[in-house]
Amino acid sequence: MSDKIVCPECGSNNVVPIVYGLPTWELRQKAEEGKIRLGGCCIYENSPRFACNDCNCAWGGEKSSGKKYEEIRRIKASIGHHCDSSLNVCVEIDLIACRVSWNQGLYKQVSFEKPIDAASAKKFIERLRQLRVLNWGQRYDNPGVLDGTQWSIEVGFGEVCTVKGGSNAYPKEWDGFCRLIQDVAGRPFK
Ligand SMILES: [Zn+2]
Repeated sequence: MSDKIVCPECGSNNVVPIVYGLPTWELRQKAEEGKIRLGGCCIYENSPRFACNDCNCAWGGEKSSGKKYEEIRRIKASIGHHCDSSLNVCVEIDLIACRVSWNQGLYKQVSFEKPIDAASAKKFIERLRQLRVLNWGQRYDNPGVLDGTQWSIEVGFGEVCTVKGGSNAYPKEWDGFCRLIQDVAGRPFK
């Protein structure tokens, strides 16, 4: 079953299903052998169904899967730094209202809204497509680092959205994504 599935992030076919629920001894054994991944007791509507043994990303099961870039209505991106909360940013780009909202710092030391024109909104979606944002895995984690930098993005399609995030680990298009946000908002996002 899993030999037809390839990782959306690195293209590897070393992909295993994620099994949810209280694991039996046999499932634990399989997990130790790298044949399955244990997902914990709780399964949610958008819990990932597959994991890649090579790059560690997990995906599948999103309600939004099959959605297209033209259907993106808004993007919300957050970045949080353990060392300096004044650098924490939450930015929302509303492609219907054509508006950027920026909130930075624990006490919103920097907070503004600005309009974008329809042509920029269209170009923004084009760049999201080039960055393969909808193909990013759901989680990127570096368990070797305890604090550091957390990030998340929420891609809104109207009634549903998909959330991706990570901790001290990023998809390879992350730098390009940060530049895109900076171009639209006019402030560094990193
Ligand atoms: Zn992979």
